[in-house]
Amino acid sequence: MKFSYTQKHKIKFSTLLTALVAASILCTLLILLVTSYKSEKDSLIKTTLALNYSKSEKMKDTVNFLFKSMKTSLQETTQYLDQNKNLTDDEAQHSLELIQNTNRYFNSITWVDETGLIRNIAPLSVGLKNTYITNEQTDAALRSRHPYVSAPFVAPTGRLLLLISEPFFDSKGSYRGLIGGTIYLEENNILNEILGQSAMDLYNSYYYVVDNNGKLIYHPDKSRIGDQVTANPIVRRMLNGSSGMEITTNTLGIEMAAAYSVVPETGWGIVQQTPMSSIQERLNEHIRKMLLYTLLPFFALLVLSIILAERLTRPFVKLANLMKEFSSGRHVQLPPIQSHWNREADYLTRSVTEAIDTMQKNQDQLEQKAKTDPLTGLSNRRTLNEMMETWSLRSQPYSVMIIDIDHFKLVNDTYGHPAGDEVLKQLASTIDAIVKDNGRCFRYGGEEFVVLLPSFTAVEAYWLAEQLRKKTETTITPVGKPVTISIGIAEFPMHANIPEKLFSLADQALYQSKHAGRNQTTIARAYTHNLPAAYQ
Ligand code: GH3
Ligand code: MG
Ligand code: MG
Repeated sequence: MKFSYTQKHKIKFSTLLTALVAASILCTLLILLVTSYKSEKDSLIKTTLALNYSKSEKMKDTVNFLFKSMKTSLQETTQYLDQNKNLTDDEAQHSLELIQNTNRYFNSITWVDETGLIRNIAPLSVGLKNTYITNEQTDAALRSRHPYVSAPFVAPTGRLLLLISEPFFDSKGSYRGLIGGTIYLEENNILNEILGQSAMDLYNSYYYVVDNNGKLIYHPDKSRIGDQVTANPIVRRMLNGSSGMEITTNTLGIEMAAAYSVVPETGWGIVQQTPMSSIQERLNEHIRKMLLYTLLPFFALLVLSIILAERLTRPFVKLANLMKEFSSGRHVQLPPIQSHWNREADYLTRSVTEAIDTMQKNQDQLEQKAKTDPLTGLSNRRTLNEMMETWSLRSQPYSVMIIDIDHFKLVNDTYGHPAGDEVLKQLASTIDAIVKDNGRCFRYGGEEFVVLLPSFTAVEAYWLAEQLRKKTETTITPVGKPVTISIGIAEFPMHANIPEKLFSLADQALYQSKHAGRNQTTIARAYTHNLPAAYQ
């Protein structure tokens, strides 16, 4: 049976395995990435919010403490001035300068008397000494006769500043004006120092501070100081006194993870916030790293699976090729069985190789049987025909010799068929012994034998035939006496170059031997006229 099939649309096992491995790894990777992305995002936001909240709370405490210290410092200044009433103007000026320089809370300290006259101002370089106050905020502070924290305002010097003031009452209870400290919001000041000059940290987190009216009094972007930011929901919450943390959108429309706390002493709100874009950036970085770390083992696994699949399929491919060769009818040279680490491959290789081996042996035996005569063990007529065809086609010169036992029927009749068989067997081995390696012997049928002698001329064959004939007539057979044989010879291509014709000439020569009295050898007639008289 022959199969004709195409392998065009068939998928290779190694491709299948590799694709399977790749698909399963990619799926796992995708699931891992998605889940990791989600959980990492959640945790990053939570951590950032918590961290920001702890920072804003700490900063709230710091600013609260700072504010108390500022107030104390201003109060102490009023006490000092009251206790030292006799100070000259210069001495008072000097004292304010000393206080301003040592505690460094304020950018300037001023004493405004009850009439609104700036009695002293440190540093003197501000340039307003002995002038009257002109701005509303200081005026309001003066008239309030209470501790006062102004909203940001632009001073006559053109600076944006905050005023923190304490009323100055002397020991007799008379109002002597105020002692005010200023913070220059857009210049180096105490808030900058505490909240950080460099503004942004590694993740772009930063603080900003709003006063109790919702105006920015500290922001790393100085240009924004003084802006009203009540549009921001968390600023509104702080103005209501709440603190907390949440994702919010600021007044510039940027999403922020923000934490906020309210300073109890001033009502200011402190916000520590991180842009969501920078959290996203960290997240992307995390995913990039994860991909990088997973891609390397992924490719290693892929290469491994390709190698493995190739190794695994190799024995099957070998077996398939072997079977293909076997089924084409050729004799397959079986390779030595190599053990394989895969149990199924090993098992199949062994079974198939053994099966092919057994089948080939059986086939060889059958072929041998088909070519051999069972009684004598010589090759049979079919083999003879094949060989004559082949040699003739190859133009191989040879002689053919036909041998027939004389009066064999008589042997059978006298001694029985089995005894006749024994005679046949003996003659077969005699022929074989005489011919040796010079040619091939056949049992043509019945009591007729044929010998093919390659490269033998008819004359050379004649001498060999004579040896055989003489040996036969002197050899005692199993029936107790010798038999004789008659022989006919023809030579290829001299007598005929067609096997059938050649055989027929040899047969005629045999007939001649019989006719001439048996127990003799005759060369085909066509050749006889060339023979010396003695052989004719
Ligand atoms: P001739 O000298 O003319 O060849 O006489 P012959 O008796 O040999 O010739 P014939 O062809 O008349 O007889 C051949 C005999 O060979 C007939 C048959 O009984 C015998 N024979 C053929 N095949 C076998 C065989 O396989 N075994 C035995 N024992 N005898 C066989
Ligand atoms: Mg015969
Ligand atoms: Mg005979």
